[in-house]
Formats: sequence, structure tokens, C-alpha cells
Amino acid sequence: MSVAVVATAHDFRRACQEARRDGELALVPTMGFLHAGHQSLIQAAAQRAPTVAVTIFVNPTQFGPGEDLSRYPRDLEGDLRKCEEAGGTFVFVPRGPEEIYPAGFQTSVEPGPLAAPLCGERRPGHFRGVCTVVAKLFALSRADCAFFGEKDYQQLAVIRRMNADLNLGVEVIGRPIVRERDGLAMSSRNAYLSREERARATALWKGLKAARDAFTAGEVQAERLEELARQKLVEDGLRIDYAEVRDSVELQRPQKADATSRLFLAAFLGKTRLIDNGAVGESG
Ligand code: AMP
Repeated sequence: MSVAVVATAHDFRRACQEARRDGELALVPTMGFLHAGHQSLIQAAAQRAPTVAVTIFVNPTQFGPGEDLSRYPRDLEGDLRKCEEAGGTFVFVPRGPEEIYPAGFQTSVEPGPLAAPLCGERRPGHFRGVCTVVAKLFALSRADCAFFGEKDYQQLAVIRRMNADLNLGVEVIGRPIVRERDGLAMSSRNAYLSREERARATALWKGLKAARDAFTAGEVQAERLEELARQKLVEDGLRIDYAEVRDSVELQRPQKADATSRLFLAAFLGKTRLIDNGAVGESG
């Protein structure tokens, strides 16, 4: 049996409504070009609920001018196979952006201070786009729970906050980052990398490890941990977008890190922007 596909907001709402009669409904929002990181979310969702709705939508409102919207990788056939393999029940693939943003659309969700630093600062309007589409997916599906990856840790924090602030009533569940064998965080955008860039992309992981090793050895000065990570990025020729230690809840900058403080990294390899993050007190 292959996974069912719905292409309109109307059909998605109806499929979710029907599914909720049989028990809990779990939602996994994605932009497609699925990999094992996405599949880990679908698998976790399938363990939690009898029905798992996956969405595949390259949401134009979360891309800024000059970003990679038009060249974002797509592979619907492969995605459907991977959804099914991981335990997805049905997939919502809007037939076009008008399905989500019909003529006359004009209302957005404006997130607060959690969306201000890091990716929010570098990508103005990004989290407004993310919150708006996720709020719409929550409203259409009325899912009991929704799964997001810590790969996009700030996004997860912003969505948790939105869900609480707007009483959306969805249980927001975060899941750990899935990595390649050499430590690179899986990402659809890794497909942009040339062989040579792919080899250098492990610098983010090296940077995170350097900060973790230093923290384990007793270094708690946030600036020093950031500096160690920066060195690794520069050594491999990446252009640093940010390298910042922040607390894991409010995303504020501490002077001294504790084990739960997270190092957030964003860097360019050519035109490709990669992000990563992790708690400094974690090993591995
Ligand atoms: P995207 O398709 O990039 O918008 O990602 C869809 C969901 O998958 C988001 O919740 C991401 O945080 C999550 N995700 C992406 N990459 C990974 C990864 N390597 N490990 C775990 N979750 C991931």
C-alpha cells in the first residue's frame, strides 16, 4: 500500500478530520527532499499516534529575496517512498503556493523576541513566514502533536512559544539532530554542496566538538567557546554568519556557559548556508 497524497487544503482538512476519529493525529511539517532526519521525525510520530500526516511545502514566505526558493531541491517520488518507509499515513503536498496563500491573503503571525537573534537577525521575516505556515498547518490539521527537529533549534523554540501564546493546543515535540557519519547535520541543502565543499562542511561539527571539548576541560567563558568554534570554521574556509553561545530556553547570551547552553553556528560554503547547534555539555 502506498502512502496517500492530498493536494488541496480542503482535502487535507477532511483527511485529518477523518483520522482524528480513530485516535491521535501527529503532524510532521517539512519542505521535502527528505532524508533520515525527516524520517526520524516521522518514525517518532508513528510511535506516538496511529495517524501521521506529513506535509511537504516549500513555503515561499519564509525565504528572503536572493535566497534559494527557486532552486530548493525537490524529489516528490523519493519523498513519498521515504514517508511510507518511515510510517507516514498520508502526505499533504499543496498543488501550489495559492493553495496555502490564496488571493487576498493578508494575515501573518509575528513572533516576538525569541525570533530576533541568530537566523531571525540574518533572515528578516523568516520566522514570520515559518510561524504563519505552521499556524495554518496546525489549524487545518488540528493535530494532537507535531514533531520538529532540533536541527532548527530556534525555529523549534519560536514554534513552541507561538503554540503557547496563541493557545493552539498542539503538543510540540522536539527531536535530536540526525547526522551523517562524519558529523555533518543532515539537511536538504547539503545537496547543493560540491564534493570539495562537502568535505569542508564538517567544519561545523568540528567547531561544535571543539567547544564541547573545551567546556568539558573546564572552559566556561562563552566568548572563548565561540572563538574556538570560529577557528574551526575559518580553518576550513567557511564564511561565518554567526557563532554564538545562548541559553536553551530564552536564547539569551550568557557570559558563562553551563552544560545546557547551546552553541549556534551558521556559515556559508560558497552560496550554501548551513546551520548547526548543540548543547556544549553534551558529548559525541
Ligand atoms: P525542513 O524540510 O528543512 O524544513 O525540515 C523539516 C523538519 O525536519 C524540521 O522540523 C527540521 O528541524 C527537521 N530536520 C531537518 N534536518 C534534520 C536533522 N538532520 N535531524 C533532525 N531533524 C531535522
